[in-house]
Amino acid sequence: MTRIFGGVEAGGTKCICAIGSGPETLEPVERIATTTPEETLQRIIRYFAEHPRRREIRALGVGSFGPLDLNRNSPTYGHITSTPKAGWLNTNVAGTLEQALGIPVGFDTDVNAAALGEHRWGAARGLHTFLYMTIGTGIGGGAMAEGRLLHGLLHTEMGHVLLPHDRTADPFGGICPFHGDCFEGLASGPALQARWGGVPEQFAPDHPAWPLEARYIALALVNTICTLSPQRIILGGGVMDNAVLFPLIRHGIQFLLGGYIQSPHMREGIDSYIVPPALGGRAGILGAIALAQGAGPGA
Ligand code: ZN
Repeated sequence: MTRIFGGVEAGGTKCICAIGSGPETLEPVERIATTTPEETLQRIIRYFAEHPRRREIRALGVGSFGPLDLNRNSPTYGHITSTPKAGWLNTNVAGTLEQALGIPVGFDTDVNAAALGEHRWGAARGLHTFLYMTIGTGIGGGAMAEGRLLHGLLHTEMGHVLLPHDRTADPFGGICPFHGDCFEGLASGPALQARWGGVPEQFAPDHPAWPLEARYIALALVNTICTLSPQRIILGGGVMDNAVLFPLIRHGIQFLLGGYIQSPHMREGIDSYIVPPALGGRAGILGAIALAQGAGPGA
C-alpha cells in the first residue's frame, strides 16, 4: 500500500497543509490563515480529517514557527513557547493534532523541516553538515550536523545573532522586540520596510538597501561558516527572491573571510556553495512531509 503523509508548514501569517510522499506526489496545498490557535488548529484538523485520502495518511509532520519546546522529556513538548505572536504563547500544537487525528506527529522548527526537505530531495542531498536559512518576514536557520538535525539545548536561533552594526553608516535601530538590532532586527523583510519605507519586493536592483542587506547576511553567514563548518548554505525566504542579493552575499563572504578558510567552495566554487533552495517555495511543506516520514510506525 502507498504510504502517504501529511505535512503542515505553520507560519505566523499562514499555515500550509498538504499530503504526499515526496516532490512528485505532493498534492496541491491548502492555505489556512493563521488566526487564533483554536481556530487555526481546528481548520488544520478538519483539512486532514475530511481529506478523501485520510485513511491512507500514516503520520503528520509539522514544521512550525517558534520558539518551540522540542525536548521529548518535557511536559510541554510540542508546544510553541515564548512567541511574541499574540495569543500563541504556550500553545500545544503537536499534542492537539496527534490527539485529534490519531496518527503520530513529527514536530520541529520550520527551518529544520525545510533543511530536512532539502536534504532528502533538494540542494543538500548527499551532504551531512549544512545550513538552511530563511530571510523573509523573520530570519531563522535550520542546520544538520553530521547527519542529524541540530537541536541541542532548545533549537538554533540564528536570526537573533548579534552583528557588527555601524550606526554611522546605518543609524536604523532595528525592530527585534527582544534585541533591537540583532540580525533579524536589522535585516528581515519588515526591518527593510521600516528602515527604507515601501515594500522591499519593489525596491530597484540599485537601491541602497541591497548592499547593506547583503553585508548583514554575509556577516551572519561568516559566523556560521566559522562555527558550523557547513558543506553548503541554502538561502530561502521572500527577501532572497531579489536576484541582486546572491552575488553580493557571495562576494561579501569572500571579502570578510579574507582567504582564511582554505576550500575551493570559498573561491571559484562559491556559486554552488551559497545557493537557493532546489525545492523553491516547497522546501517547507516537503520538509514537513519528511518529518512525518520520520515519525510514522516503522519509519
Ligand atoms: Zn532578536
